[in-house]
Amino acid sequence: MESIEKLGDLTGKTVLVRCDLNVPLNEKGEITDDRRIREAVPTLKDLLSRGAKVIVTAHLGRPGGKEDPAYSLAPVAQRLSELLGDPVILAKDAAGEDSKKLAKELKPGEVLLLENIRFRPEETSKDEEERMKLAEDLASMADLFVFDGFGVAHRKHASSYDVSKLLPSYMGFLVAKEEKALSRALEDPARPYTVVMGGAKVSDKLKVIVHLLDVADRILVAGGMAYTFIKANGGQIGQSLVEPDMLDEARECMRIAKEKGVEFVLPKDLVVADAFSADASTEIVDAYEVPENMMGMDVGPKTCEEFAAKIADSKTVFWNGPLGVFEFPKFAEGTRFIAQAMKKATQNGAFTIIGGGDSAAAVDAFGFKDGDFSHISTGGGASLEFLKGEGLPALGEK
Ligand code: AMP
Repeated sequence: MESIEKLGDLTGKTVLVRCDLNVPLNEKGEITDDRRIREAVPTLKDLLSRGAKVIVTAHLGRPGGKEDPAYSLAPVAQRLSELLGDPVILAKDAAGEDSKKLAKELKPGEVLLLENIRFRPEETSKDEEERMKLAEDLASMADLFVFDGFGVAHRKHASSYDVSKLLPSYMGFLVAKEEKALSRALEDPARPYTVVMGGAKVSDKLKVIVHLLDVADRILVAGGMAYTFIKANGGQIGQSLVEPDMLDEARECMRIAKEKGVEFVLPKDLVVADAFSADASTEIVDAYEVPENMMGMDVGPKTCEEFAAKIADSKTVFWNGPLGVFEFPKFAEGTRFIAQAMKKATQNGAFTIIGGGDSAAAVDAFGFKDGDFSHISTGGGASLEFLKGEGLPALGEK
């Protein structure tokens, strides 16, 4: 895909833009982190400045293919309008009658946001023909398509993958920025190259870890996923999170790491709790000796120090996934400590990437600034898929 920089004057043209505006909301429906909306603005402003009529399509949460007011893009429309300094018209549906009517009435310099595209079951359907019907509805409203929703670049969805087959398609500034930064971690990274993997699910991330064994020098594993590896090594993990059917694969992953000479580092100590709750009683224990009635909730101080030292000694660091249950302040210290180590490494000249999702939300919540790291990705799953080096479907690769 070519960049929108190649586009000239767009007066009279309607451009459909797929953005990733999937922001977290609190119980009151207020946006708690507007990073993804902020990151969508440069492309939209550029298209508007070229005289285009802009239609934005995006999703929010997982409404399961049904209209559900709890997942309306209304709060996003309001925030986007504030950031653009222009009104944003919100359609009542996702590429339906109301969208099509409003698209026809749209004037140069105006922005129309379609309702949550995941209100339509076709968006995420496995059936290509079904998805194509929605892609045709979307394409019927526009002359050009711009893909800028990096967070969904690894998905074959109607509004990201299929629609690009129906219209002349370009990539937006955010996608270009993400590709450029992540490519530095994939192609000839400055060494030592350290990957820090946290988060809850081994099954989601194990394939990526195995791929990374070909490029990284060190892999530091923490968070909920570490316990499966610790158990696979014969450790006692008490009530900690575990994926029993992944034990063999975890063992195999560590064997390959050894074979390839990649340092594979697991937590040495843990903060354990007697319940999965914000005010549980806690203790610091050896990571291989979690008491039977306790569960791991965060990494301990020795692990923090060891991980921080390895980060400090790196020239490239990619980090995805929290090191503990950071949503509870008592168990956020490991994640905060690693964010601080990443910041310091950046100041010392390392190239550092925060790999989206919960890690990006965590550094935002801790009050770190964009400039504290080399790159904060807007896509957790997408950045991990990118690092496999197999391309991303929405960018026209594989
Ligand atoms: P993921 O989506 O796989 O990146 O997982 C993110 C989630 O992992 C967050 O909601 C964390 O609360 C959770 N998490 C991190 N560490 C642990 C842990 N030690 N036990 C349980 N969940 C954890």
